[in-house]
Amino acid sequence: MKKKPFKAESKRLLGLMINSIYTHKEIFLRELISNASDAMDKLYFKTLTEDGLSFDRSDFEIFIEADKDNRTLTIRDNGLGMTKEELENNLGTIAKSGTMDFRQENKDNLEKFKPERMGEEENEEEDDSASESQDTPLDAAEETTAAQPAEEDEAKEAGFDIDIIGQFGVGFYSAFMVSKEITVISKAYGSNEAWRWQSEGADGYSIEPYEKEGFGTTIILALKDNHDEENYSQYLDQYKIQDIVKKYSDYIRYPIKMALTKRRPKATEDSDDKKAPEYEDYQEIDTLNSMVPLWRRNKNEVNGEDYEQFYMEKFSNYEIPLTYSHISAEGTISYDGILYIPLNTPYNYYSKEYEKGLQLYANGVLIMEKCADLLPDCFSFVRGLVDSPDLSLNISREMLQQDRQVKAIAKSLDKRIKSDLLKLLKNDREKYEGFFKNFGMQLKFGIYNSFGADKDKLQDLLLYHSLKEDKMVTLAEYLEKMTEGQETIYYACGSSISRIRQLPQTELVLDKGYDILALTEDVDEFAIKIINEYQGKTIKSVSDKDLDLESKEEKEATKEQAETHKDLFTAMKEALGDKVKEVRLSKRLKSHPICLTSDGPLSIEMEKVLNSMPTDNQVKADRVLEINGNHPVFAALTKLEGSDPEKLKTYTTLLYHQALLIEGLTIEDPVSFANSICELMS
Ligand code: ADP
Repeated sequence: MKKKPFKAESKRLLGLMINSIYTHKEIFLRELISNASDAMDKLYFKTLTEDGLSFDRSDFEIFIEADKDNRTLTIRDNGLGMTKEELENNLGTIAKSGTMDFRQENKDNLEKFKPERMGEEENEEEDDSASESQDTPLDAAEETTAAQPAEEDEAKEAGFDIDIIGQFGVGFYSAFMVSKEITVISKAYGSNEAWRWQSEGADGYSIEPYEKEGFGTTIILALKDNHDEENYSQYLDQYKIQDIVKKYSDYIRYPIKMALTKRRPKATEDSDDKKAPEYEDYQEIDTLNSMVPLWRRNKNEVNGEDYEQFYMEKFSNYEIPLTYSHISAEGTISYDGILYIPLNTPYNYYSKEYEKGLQLYANGVLIMEKCADLLPDCFSFVRGLVDSPDLSLNISREMLQQDRQVKAIAKSLDKRIKSDLLKLLKNDREKYEGFFKNFGMQLKFGIYNSFGADKDKLQDLLLYHSLKEDKMVTLAEYLEKMTEGQETIYYACGSSISRIRQLPQTELVLDKGYDILALTEDVDEFAIKIINEYQGKTIKSVSDKDLDLESKEEKEATKEQAETHKDLFTAMKEALGDKVKEVRLSKRLKSHPICLTSDGPLSIEMEKVLNSMPTDNQVKADRVLEINGNHPVFAALTKLEGSDPEKLKTYTTLLYHQALLIEGLTIEDPVSFANSICELMS
């Protein structure tokens, strides 16, 4: 038979997937049922929106058949079906799922990931020999349990995070965990050709015309042989199947039917009481699932595990959510919904490839897979669905934005998400901190991108690292612990907490007993400057021009000292030219001799962030070199002022360069810096 190889990376991923993602093999059934249900949803939706078609929900069903003699498990649906092309595209490339184009987004990873033996490129030609002789890593992976650790290590070594794979639509392929061969027979709705797709997993697939009555898809799994560690026969057992369906697919809204063997007393002619009754087996077709969508069920009847399973089935494949929330809203707009926050950051979350959105149902009919208009950008991490009886089925993507109902739902969701997050913050700090680690940056972007419009909504959700307490705190918590007389919320920026701790600017502030919020992310200072004040307290950087740390007397003294040494500062400024805007006496330093700060709205940290972006427009903060008037270095400078102006220049340049290094900036001429130091030493 003619075989086509899978596209190269598919094979590789298939091996990994089979061995790594799913610890519970039984979920293969969930995946196949869910695909069948989707196919019926698609067809049903078509019938609602296209003229001349008329289907009823009850026309659809999924049928499971277990054949113990032949060791096959069959899952049949009368959904939309697939054309030849769709069979090839959907099942021939592992990652071709939904809207995600895996190959584009992961080019780099895949390059790293390709072992030499996968040299055979995509082979669209029909080619017998190619498939038979391939030495693929999957050959080894066939015995799943034995191969697991090696495959996983290899993947890690290749820098490819296995978690990533779980985020793709590998649903169908999970059936290879239990099957040695999979046959898919499908006839697309409206077509009069049927096709048979067949594959043993690793070495490609074959496809040929086939006879099939009616549209839809039939999937036949030839189960693997049992071995010591795995009993595949269990998936033919009706009780096991009933169990799995109940556990993972109960809410599927189409009936999942199966002929069950039951036992009843045999009807006998004479009714002699003393004789033990005889029994006979008979077959009866039962519906295995309750068919009520989870979101329509009474919250009291649904437990945490149900929500988690539902999430895995619909949104994740492999990972439970961090939290969930079930909404039944009534009033001006009524809707049911389930919202989830993922446990981890999706691999492409902070990139423009990531698509936000919730599934949108109109009275139980899926009308959109990802409705972006339901979620504000700042909460784009939320997954889930919304079902409302008030929506029109024929609503188009363009109309959605204008739709009053959709707007009303979005507004209500926005409030709900915020209150859910606040609740989590209050009731489960550890979980919240986990959430914040993954998605906190998005909240800060939200404040920045909205130019402050969303500040009130988001500022109470923020966490910052407190230098004093060495843990994450909210702005409200910072306020609670403020020292008497403290009027300002202080923050400091740097590439890491430890670097921030070492900044000369932080010493005096901490010494006064004031806490400092340590900001380490690029967006941090931009966002906090937009917040600007919290509950009437100004938020200031420890590098801000005016920190107000001194008493009245101290201020007077500093002013006097600055006046006395005016010429020294002027000389130093001249030595540095336009590298700095000013050299001045510092009011913020304690044991350190110098620091670099800036005047004006652009801080040094912001300058760094902006200049790291790929544009030609470099910005420059108005740098100020500050000198500690109580430091021996200052005394040395004052001595040089009159006696050795050249040396004063050298010292000034040295100090400036030191200040740059402390701030984490590079120095323009490191060689002359090094030479100057050597000169001092000799
Ligand atoms: P996902 O379901 O995440 O998209 P799968 O690997 O499970 O990924 O399926 C890939 C694609 O194959 C589906 O998106 C769908 O287009 C198609 N497909 C799978 N099973 C069926 C089916 N029973 N009927 C029609 N199409 C199907």
